[in-house]
Amino acid sequence: MDKKNFRPESLMMSYGYKPELSEGAIKCPIFQTSTFVFKTAEEGKAFFEVAYGLREKGAKEELGLIYSRLNNPDLEILENRLTLWDGAEECAVFESGMSAISTVFLEFLRPGDLLVFSSPLYGGTDHFIHHFLTDFGIHILGFQANQSMDEVAQKIEESGYANRLKLIYVETPANPTNALIDIEGCSELAKRFSTKENEVLVAVDNTYMGPLWQHPLKHGADLVIYSATKYIGGHSDVIAGACLGSSKLIGRIKGLRTFLGNMAGPWTGWLLMRSLETLKPRMETQARNAEKVAKFLKDHPKVEHVYYLGFISPDDKETYRIFKKQYESNGAMISFDVKGGEHEAFTFLNNLKLIKLAVSLGSTESLAEHPATMTHADVSHEDKTAMNITEKLVRLSVGVENPDDLIWDIGQALDAI
Ligand SMILES: *Cc1c(COP(=O)(O)O)cnc(C)c1O
Repeated sequence: MDKKNFRPESLMMSYGYKPELSEGAIKCPIFQTSTFVFKTAEEGKAFFEVAYGLREKGAKEELGLIYSRLNNPDLEILENRLTLWDGAEECAVFESGMSAISTVFLEFLRPGDLLVFSSPLYGGTDHFIHHFLTDFGIHILGFQANQSMDEVAQKIEESGYANRLKLIYVETPANPTNALIDIEGCSELAKRFSTKENEVLVAVDNTYMGPLWQHPLKHGADLVIYSATKYIGGHSDVIAGACLGSSKLIGRIKGLRTFLGNMAGPWTGWLLMRSLETLKPRMETQARNAEKVAKFLKDHPKVEHVYYLGFISPDDKETYRIFKKQYESNGAMISFDVKGGEHEAFTFLNNLKLIKLAVSLGSTESLAEHPATMTHADVSHEDKTAMNITEKLVRLSVGVENPDDLIWDIGQALDAI
């Protein structure tokens, strides 16, 4: 096999790192430094010319290390490794998922532009759109997973701002009910409203599936975004974010990142590189565990309905079509309705002994929470109803524990209802 064809999981321990540049250390050290020493003044000048876009980088020229707000070995190597999973040209890492998301909005939207987004979105993203972007004169238009792309196109036309559409922003599977959105459909929609002067972009927040199970760029998205706090970090011990896409688009995002100063620090970069080494085995174990948990929940008398990608029926034609083309796994996020309401859901949550009652997801430990009063407390009543975010809904992020122990815990907590 050609060396170039190694799978991403085989390269997570070594890709982009040269031990000979670090005293032979097998692991990339933490480059806890704010600035870098130039060999000569000429070298410093050359580095700045490229960094500030005063000239194009030469074919063999590497971006020189200048100052850790612009670049740092821990960040650059991490970014190179992250590109492998999504087949992206370039990646930018941030100190949080929200800083990746807000930087994308700030780079690509200007007053008067139209932002179209799927609903519901992660609470922080939703807040930034409704309470910040609108203040800056950006027009916003939400749509839901069950709306067809033709319906969305019609809503865009009717908004009166179709010629200012700039960005379609999507989260799929939607949190917390695993509703699906057709990324390729969104990409076609973007093309339909693009003109020579105005290219409409599609950005997908892929946090819910991590870099393993859904590859938005392959379905026509321009940008893929992660809260690296979730599966990428995977140990509930670091907050970080990432955005990937073409060199052209990520170059713009890195430009703004330099001036906002919201890049991840070297310590965060090092922690995430450590996490990436086990990304695949962690996520695969989580998905296997989730399948067992989902099957247990489905047959349980105290459970009314289970929202899990593995249970999408071929009879549900449109959803099944999207599922088949877009997903490589059923994932490890499960939501379910207990029979009853908030009291029954809370009784379940309060009686868990192994699974932790906490928001966040994608970590090694299993987490449970109540979307209606926690992660999605801020969602309008109308959207909650439309998206089945009711008082009886519980969300589970399945971890790497022994699945029999998880099932025992869930069983005894359901019995307490
Ligand atoms: C957690 C999360 C975010 C925000 O990421 P932070 O790292 O907490 O800033 C964005 N989108 C989704 C889907 C998330 O789950």
